[in-house]
Amino acid sequence: VRAKRIPLIAGNWKMNFDHLEATYYVQKLVWLLRDARFDYSQCEIALMPPFTSLRSVQVLVEADKLKIHYGAQAVSVTTQGAFTGDVSADMIAHLGCSYVIVGHSERRKYHPEDDANIVDQVRAVLAAGMQPILCVGESFEERRQGIELDFAVGQVRDVTRDLSATEAAKLIVAYEPVWAIGTGMVATPDTAQQAAKAIRGDIAAMFGDDVSQTVRILYGGSVSSKNALDLIEEPDVDGFLIGGASLDPDEMARIARIT
Ligand code: PGA
Repeated sequence: VRAKRIPLIAGNWKMNFDHLEATYYVQKLVWLLRDARFDYSQCEIALMPPFTSLRSVQVLVEADKLKIHYGAQAVSVTTQGAFTGDVSADMIAHLGCSYVIVGHSERRKYHPEDDANIVDQVRAVLAAGMQPILCVGESFEERRQGIELDFAVGQVRDVTRDLSATEAAKLIVAYEPVWAIGTGMVATPDTAQQAAKAIRGDIAAMFGDDVSQTVRILYGGSVSSKNALDLIEEPDVDGFLIGGASLDPDEMARIARIT
């Protein structure tokens, strides 16, 4: 099953690094991977910088034909016009982005991003020819109540229910339990596998086996080079969305080599 899906390691920089630091980071990461003779055909690497660094990353990637991908951390649901401070999916796509993170728990918390808005973001990203990395995952409270799997599966279903199978096949899901994000409390491999398997099962029920075997399901929440190997060995975990650890290019390179 794994052979159908190339693992994806996505570094979510959040609000870190200006464009000069981003340039330094990309060069260092690429040097480290070159030294390690990293095989990009076996594992895909994506960086998710703030909007202000996307152009700098694009210039480097295009100039040196780097084999890394990159994307944005959020997107406006409108295409253009009087929306001060917003950035459209087309603007992001024109910078060579492959991915956009949608519905990260920090966005759900600090911005008015509800399910309807997240559905619209997914649609905007797909319409611009990119792939959404849809973040879902329960808080500690849902886990305490024992409803964590239903909760995460329900979040995916709410967003995907009106998509076509072709659209759904372009989705990437990141299972990120809120209690694990930035806390050092990584989910056990078994917990990550159970959630990924439940999400994949529901996608199969909605869109069929082909789609469910195509969609990559990442785990996110306190991933580091210390826990990545055990997590990636789980059959339904197809890679990682990495916050804190991704800010260190050495650590990012170590995780990429493990995966
Ligand atoms: P973390 O963040 O790796 O720092 O826990 C993950 C995320 O928020 O995507």
